[in-house]
Amino acid sequence: MPPFKDLFKGKQKYVTVKPTSIQTEQPDGLWTKCTQCGQLTYTRELAHNLLVCHKCGFHFKLSAAQRLAITLDEGSFVEFDSNLVSADPIEFPGYAAKLEKTRQATGLEEAVVTGQGTIGGYPVMIGVMDFSFIGASMGSVVGEKVARLFERATRQHVPVVMFCASGGARMQEGVLSLMQMAKTSAACARLSEAGVLYVSVLTNPTTAGVLASFASLGDIIIAEPGALVGFTGQRVIEETIRQKLPPGFQSAEFVLEHGMIDMIVERRDMKKTLASLLALHERRHEAG
Ligand SMILES: [Zn+2]
Repeated sequence: MPPFKDLFKGKQKYVTVKPTSIQTEQPDGLWTKCTQCGQLTYTRELAHNLLVCHKCGFHFKLSAAQRLAITLDEGSFVEFDSNLVSADPIEFPGYAAKLEKTRQATGLEEAVVTGQGTIGGYPVMIGVMDFSFIGASMGSVVGEKVARLFERATRQHVPVVMFCASGGARMQEGVLSLMQMAKTSAACARLSEAGVLYVSVLTNPTTAGVLASFASLGDIIIAEPGALVGFTGQRVIEETIRQKLPPGFQSAEFVLEHGMIDMIVERRDMKKTLASLLALHERRHEAG
């Protein structure tokens, strides 16, 4: 018996999405300070700018719901596996309580939301990781939902778009978390063998076990500007190899220059870029 509680409700969840705006529950007059340049902006104005700083272009983190809202065509999203929850397989002290608290704080059941929808009219299987859920760490449920998404896409020959973000493996699930790297990578390989497009989008930060598995296996790998992309933290690497690393060596810009990713796309251009890639893929598919 796998360590999951498969508690499907009878009905699928539908989420209303708005393609070009981010809803904020903040009242008028509330300010947000930019993490990068310190600029103070009205939170509502920042939301209208898709949570990108007007002054320096810093891309704030988005919730999964916000990402879905600005990526998918309105009303097109149908969620999969929304009720898969961790069974606390190694009974890690305090984990069950932490999960419950995080669920209440975020309104999410887990650190990834998966489903299907359309982008510019093109059908996609989509996954969005949410950093606010225990650092979007990958435990057994995140790995299972991602693998199931790839498997469904393989069966139905529908492209996958995955918005990645993660601080790494879910330590509270021990080795079961690490096993998700192999499981998701194997599911990616089967998708690739079936000739189905997979676009991976690396958002800030995409690190460790997620980067070292499905995040870096996209046919096309996109990053948002300034996203931290790396396996291990800079300080740990410097202490291990006893060398100083160049500034910004784990930024999206650095990894683009060194051939790890294919392009950097600003948030306001992400949807149309994805739609173009899906259009190109569909034409090729038809031609082939
Ligand atoms: Zn700024």
